[in-house]
Amino acid sequence: MGADGKVQAIKTKNLVTGEEAQLDTDGVFIFVGHLPNNELLKGKFELDEDGHLITDRFTRTNIPGVFAGGEIMDKVFKQVATSVGQGCAAAMQTTKFLEELESHGMPDLQEDPRDFGVAGIKKQEPLGTW
Ligand SMILES: Cc1cc2nc3c(=O)[nH]c(=O)nc-3n(C[C@H](O)[C@H](O)[C@H](O)COP(=O)(O)OP(=O)(O)OC[C@H]3O[C@@H](n4cnc5c(N)ncnc54)[C@H](O)[C@@H]3O)c2cc1C
Repeated sequence: MGADGKVQAIKTKNLVTGEEAQLDTDGVFIFVGHLPNNELLKGKFELDEDGHLITDRFTRTNIPGVFAGGEIMDKVFKQVATSVGQGCAAAMQTTKFLEELESHGMPDLQEDPRDFGVAGIKKQEPLGTW
């Protein structure tokens, strides 16, 4: 770090040989990793082997009324555009769930909502007609 607070170089270390060096640069991109921040979900939701929420293609989790999109459930794309799209789908499903809840009441919590209709109440209808 220079006197002006800007990056000037980074120190590198070859983890195989142990060789250390310096690489001059004026920018650093921090890689934060791919592990999902899932502490809140453990023990309540079905997670895959890497800790992502398991959802179906209608963004449903194993708990009725809980839908998910974005990096918490996506282990493949992990991009802003895909996360926004998945989040939009999950939001539409949430709206639909609340409407169904209001008109039909709470679904049976003993049944996995991914086994039958949207939000665990009736068979999935295309959402495009809204
Ligand atoms: C350094 C970096 C560079 C990237 N560059 C690109 C790029 O160039 N192009 C691209 O398309 N994508 C890029 N990505 C990926 C992109 O940022 C993510 O795909 C996207 O932000 C995921 O959106 P999300 O809503 O799923 O998760 P996030 O954006 O991570 O949002 C999750 C939110 O949940 C909050 N949260 C977590 N736990 C709790 C809790 N217990 N209670 C309440 N809130 C909680 C977090 O604070 C956060 O605000 C980059 C990511 C990083 C880290």
